Amino acid sequence: MSHANSPGRRERIANLGYDYLAQPREAVARCNLCGESEFVVLTHRDRYGYPAEAHACRHCGLVFLNPRMTAEAYGRFYDGVYRPLVSAFHGRQIDAHTIQGEQREYAVERAGFLRPFLSREDLHSMLDIGGSTGVVAHHFAREFALEGTLIDPAPLEVAQARSLGLETITGLVEEHDFGRRRFDVVIICQTVDHLLDVAGTLARVRQLLSDDGVLFVDIVDFRAAYLRNWSVEDAVKIDHPYYLTEPTMAAYLRGSGFEIMRADYAADHLHVSYACRPAADPSEARPDPASVERLLSEVRFVQNTQR
Ligand SMILES: [Zn+2]
Repeated sequence: MSHANSPGRRERIANLGYDYLAQPREAVARCNLCGESEFVVLTHRDRYGYPAEAHACRHCGLVFLNPRMTAEAYGRFYDGVYRPLVSAFHGRQIDAHTIQGEQREYAVERAGFLRPFLSREDLHSMLDIGGSTGVVAHHFAREFALEGTLIDPAPLEVAQARSLGLETITGLVEEHDFGRRRFDVVIICQTVDHLLDVAGTLARVRQLLSDDGVLFVDIVDFRAAYLRNWSVEDAVKIDHPYYLTEPTMAAYLRGSGFEIMRADYAADHLHVSYACRPAADPSEARPDPASVERLLSEVRFVQNTQR
């Protein structure tokens, strides 16, 4: 695997002319998961070579970019920079069109994981948050006889999703007014790491999910990302404000009123998926302090050991 310092990659990224430091950014003063403010700076650049710092909360182990771009700057980033940047990084064209095959494979795998929980006749409606071109929502809707609704901020991708017969909303779940609507199934696929406010979004999702509904969400496991490359810097990228781990994601879910029914290490060894249901009573959100110590010492180990 080549790294950010390989000449071809460095040149392709430089040719995009994206000036990260010129983007409006804001400091994160409080941890989005536990509310504390004592942080450890883990890294000073990301996998593209941009000077983005990843911080870890000393109290709960949540890892996040700090400072990070404003919502408006992220809007512009997704509009014209994100896909070209990922393409430059990998050295091949990656866009809404080329990811369709990958998305279909993903949809089939995740449907397999969810089948024990979605094979119920009382589930009718599904909301896909950040569903892009709708490949996954379309597959799930057919597979489990659900009426699919998709919400995503990218107009071109939403138009593709609409052509698949899904109800579509162009926007953000935190901002859209759903009125009294509830959904029996909510799916958040390869999206949670891109959010600006994970706690706020999950709280919103809890309101939108019917009381006996099912939530699917998956994360890029930060530990898997740095262990596979044996580089913490290469596991950080400006497109992800958050770097979740099993302890921090489980805490987010518990704290937002969900109970994990099953977790799944995806076949790619990178993602971790969760099937959840509303919890009878919300429980303590904070991860075990020992998990924070383990994370920090593992980061130091990877940073200072040749593989
Ligand atoms: Zn915290």
